[in-house]
Amino acid sequence: MSQSFLVILNIRDDMPDDLSPSAQIDYDRLLGGLLVEGFDERSCRSRYQFARYHRNAARVPSPYLIERLRRQEALQKKCGPGTKSYNNAAKQLTSTQSINGTSDCNYLFLIIHAGMGNRMLEMTSAFLYALLTGRVLLVDRSKQIASTFCEPFPGTSWLIPSDFPLSYNEFTERSPESYGNMLQDNVIRGNTYRSLTSARPPYVFLYLDGDCASNDKLFFCQDDQQFLQGVPWLIMRTDMYFVPSLFLIPSFQDELSKLFPEKDTVFHHLGRYLLHPTNDIWYSATTYYRAYLAKADKVVGIQIRVLETKGILQRNGPFPHVLEQVLSCAQGEKLLPEIGVTNEAATGNNNRTIAVLATSLSSWYSDQIRERYSEYRAVDGTTVKVYQPSHEEYQRSKNKKHNMKALAEIYLLSMSDVLITSAYSTFGYVAQGLAGLTPWIMYKPEKNLYKPENHVVPKPPCGRAMSIEPCFHQAPYFDCKAKRDADLGKVVPYVRHCEDVSWGLKIVNETRL
Ligand code: GDP
Repeated sequence: MSQSFLVILNIRDDMPDDLSPSAQIDYDRLLGGLLVEGFDERSCRSRYQFARYHRNAARVPSPYLIERLRRQEALQKKCGPGTKSYNNAAKQLTSTQSINGTSDCNYLFLIIHAGMGNRMLEMTSAFLYALLTGRVLLVDRSKQIASTFCEPFPGTSWLIPSDFPLSYNEFTERSPESYGNMLQDNVIRGNTYRSLTSARPPYVFLYLDGDCASNDKLFFCQDDQQFLQGVPWLIMRTDMYFVPSLFLIPSFQDELSKLFPEKDTVFHHLGRYLLHPTNDIWYSATTYYRAYLAKADKVVGIQIRVLETKGILQRNGPFPHVLEQVLSCAQGEKLLPEIGVTNEAATGNNNRTIAVLATSLSSWYSDQIRERYSEYRAVDGTTVKVYQPSHEEYQRSKNKKHNMKALAEIYLLSMSDVLITSAYSTFGYVAQGLAGLTPWIMYKPEKNLYKPENHVVPKPPCGRAMSIEPCFHQAPYFDCKAKRDADLGKVVPYVRHCEDVSWGLKIVNETRL
């Protein structure tokens, strides 16, 4: 079955509100105080409707986080595009003189790229870093950001103005302005800036993509943070959820403990605060939810992401071992019922319905699961219905409609009651974080992720995640104090190696260990 996602292509922006008054239930539209009143509801319905579609009890944000968000909003407004402060700061960018002293308005400009899951992780990480360092967060306007996400801050814009004076798309890991290269070339530690007591360059480019060099990763050291604190503009490119490494920088630790007394809620709170899909995307996700999922007793979200490549081509299958892994995880963990070998084998007799929401670039897996549950009944009599909103076949992260579908599906997944996700995939991380659900992660053999030698189902096929937080895949392993490599998964009890990426780092909640 291919339930077309055509609604996404032909969407009206003046849809009436979608719940009749009788069906209206009480819900926490401001997400425990994360959000403020005052935005125009019609221009971004997802902002105040999020809680309506998320049945799981959300974690409660700390009063201190709420206070800091309000302060950040005031800063964004005071220093944002169009203000005198912004204009002065932008002028400094092309000045050849170094900067002495700082102003009230310092900026973090995020260059956006990569798939939807990665984008959401990079935006959230950058936002937390901006909050910790008192910077205004501005984002790239060239990657369809305005057509996928609403403005998060009241009375201002987070989009970098189009007359921004630097050609930031030309910055690469080889740019001399990159922090790693400045260190390498001794521009900072040598004479040019460090010897001029408080002098700083007007901007520094932070290249923090997964493939960045060890010098770039010195960004995660306290001394380097001290230096960067005095640079008015930081221009950051990353595709990572680097939050776990911020928790290892001593000067940030007190503040982070106050912001997040429940440590594993960083993405959960900040993602729900910052990221609000635009009306077209929200309309297609919620319409789909109400049409196919809302009436089920339980919604099981299954995110199937195959990362194999052949040459430069992605291969999504069909891979029978991936199908078997999904079924053996779902049935083994009792998230889906066993299927009888004949219709008579079904002894249970209940009226329960489970809706499976499958997301994948390929339709083969969900077609197979649907076929299996329609051939013979589930042994306990449960009706299992399988839905998949789209099957895009391959990733096209520069295509606007493709990205909109991806985002709609991430939000749909986050509306599930339980989640099964694929190892290593940020698409699943984001859904679990928004939902506040600890997923069952389907493991992948790690040695050769993209070119596995054998197609066998790992044993066990999946395991429960330690927390709802995403994993920082390419975390640094450098002990800044000792100045040597070290296992950073053992420094504090709340930053551990990830379940799915043994060299990655993720935040866990101490009280849940
Ligand atoms: P990751 O590569 O798995 O970490 O996740 P990303 O979201 O960063 O990048 C994968 C991209 O591939 C997505 O953003 C989509 O463009 C596409 N994609 C992967 N899986 C799916 C899926 O299940 N549904 C849709 N619509 N797109 C997907």
